[in-house]
Amino acid sequence: MIDDFTVFARSGLILWRKSFVKLRGDPLARLVQTVLLEDRVALKELAHDGYTVRWLLENEAGLVFALVYQTSLPPAYADDLLSSVRSDFVSRYREKLKDDAEDDFAEYSNQFERLLTVAEDKSLSRVAAARNANTATASIPGRTATPLSAQASRRSDVDGMDGDAESMITESRGDGTEAVEDDPEEVVRRNREAFLRRRGGLGGARRKSSSNGPPASAGAAAEAPSSGKRPKQPRKSSKVTAGEIAALDFSEKPDGDDANQLTEEARDAVELARFREQFVDAKPNDAYDVIAADPDNLDDEGETAAIQNSRGGGVFSYFKGLAGMKTLTKGDLESVLEKFREALIAKNVAQEIADKLMESVGASLEGKRLETMTTVTTTVRNALDGALTRILTPRQSVDILSEIEARKGGGRPYVITYCGVNGVGKSTSLAKTCFYLLNNGCRVLIAACDTFRAGAVEQLRTHVRCLGDNVELFDRGYGKDAAAVAMDAIRRAKELRYDVVLVDTAGRMQDNEPLMRALSKLVEVNQPDRLFFVGEALVGNDAVDQLKKFNSALADHQKSANPRLIDGIVLTKFDTIDDKVGAAVSMVYTTGQPIVFVGVGQTYMDLRKVNTKSLVRALLR
Ligand code: GDP
Repeated sequence: MIDDFTVFARSGLILWRKSFVKLRGDPLARLVQTVLLEDRVALKELAHDGYTVRWLLENEAGLVFALVYQTSLPPAYADDLLSSVRSDFVSRYREKLKDDAEDDFAEYSNQFERLLTVAEDKSLSRVAAARNANTATASIPGRTATPLSAQASRRSDVDGMDGDAESMITESRGDGTEAVEDDPEEVVRRNREAFLRRRGGLGGARRKSSSNGPPASAGAAAEAPSSGKRPKQPRKSSKVTAGEIAALDFSEKPDGDDANQLTEEARDAVELARFREQFVDAKPNDAYDVIAADPDNLDDEGETAAIQNSRGGGVFSYFKGLAGMKTLTKGDLESVLEKFREALIAKNVAQEIADKLMESVGASLEGKRLETMTTVTTTVRNALDGALTRILTPRQSVDILSEIEARKGGGRPYVITYCGVNGVGKSTSLAKTCFYLLNNGCRVLIAACDTFRAGAVEQLRTHVRCLGDNVELFDRGYGKDAAAVAMDAIRRAKELRYDVVLVDTAGRMQDNEPLMRALSKLVEVNQPDRLFFVGEALVGNDAVDQLKKFNSALADHQKSANPRLIDGIVLTKFDTIDDKVGAAVSMVYTTGQPIVFVGVGQTYMDLRKVNTKSLVRALLR
């Protein structure tokens, strides 16, 4: 039994509608928002609030035929009805649809009733025939639709979360929580003790935290980027292994005899000098044009021509022979879409995302007429350009400064939390953001909530010293509950009227269930204004896995009906990838969230905002 059938133009204009009951909410608006506007038309159905929406496109006339039913009552004739109404409606009104005038299609209701009856009858006879053949269960289309709908419904609340991710969480739960002997806090405590012992008496020379709270108890030289900082190895399972303990134990590999001879004060000075050299004095990356290009200065026509000329005999010339057709068929598109798919994957777009994009572009072009003198390649390129632009254009503001400005004087500071896997550039990006905010007149408190990795607090402290005035570090040392440290930091920022709190968190692999639970707690308890996921631009297929699992774990471990998920992306190390900018697409497509900042180097100045046009241009080059 269907609840609603609507025919509407892709512009949103409803041409004809039949509602059998009053719908709760607006599943069609959801369809437009999450499928049509985000180029996910290759999907077959959408579950929302107890309803399932199925649809068909008619690309030549630019129409969408959408049918809504209750997920628990899937009609077996849904697809038949959709395709019969689509072909009937278009052939009946072909001429009328060419007019721009808003015509009235109310008369279509009678014809619709007829088609509905035919579809229902056909479905009933199919069921009867199947019963007669004693194979009813296997052949009723409605039956096969149920698990699909149920699956889609489970997914609907968490963008990018899927069944695989869910089962992964269940599996890893047993693994991580039983590992009592590997309790992270215990690991840190042991490492800290060993660190202090080997540092030769630093325990006696504990120095005060630069802000408040109990004294910090670590030497400062552990984390200098150029002082033998060990590359952080990604973890492979949720259990903390002996290898990982060793990797965390920075005390195992002191910087050398000379460093051990230095007093703490001298080591601090060396550390500070190194940070200044790297983050302040080094030449910022001003040569990076893919992101930094001024959108107003791009000449689209000239650019496209230049790209086409420069392509010469490359893969794209392959398509030229396909010019001059009238209506695009699946066969015409197939090889062209495949070449673009390969080109996107070569640009580091995750395979899964490239597949979905090309399916979506194919679905939006099939049946469409080719404009005169246009090749299939150009048509696909234009459609892909449009799709990528829509995906990468933020749906909501990413103007952090305006949001902070609006909050000023409002009591609670603006809170940004950074999360991500190890070594991707979380602390560096946090420090760069801090520099940007300080330059824009904000007062910033940095909360050291990576209470797990030895050296993390010292790294932030040195950043704070480099960054100068109007910024303070809040830390409680190591082994503490990160959620509680963040809460204390926010309270202190409120008392001292800081505008912004930047919360650093421990790096964690997406499969590490105990650490994911700790992050979820921090987020749920402190409700930051923004939860930034920091990811490397170098990452390929793993980008999708990381983001799906972060979001899935965040959703699983928060009690709220509306759990906080990642709502902004910081993409680092863009300066190291040439034009392989595909991770940007994978991350935005997976989360539906914008790229707020891009890191293009190692100095504080190397932070950029995304220029969507340049990004799309780099992808299609
Ligand atoms: P965290 O473990 O995620 O906090 O990572 P860090 O902030 O310690 O950064 C790890 C390494 O990446 C450091 O050597 C940083 O200097 C480097 N890094 C961070 N961002 C960028 C960037 O945008 N470009 C380049 N080239 N290196 C970066």
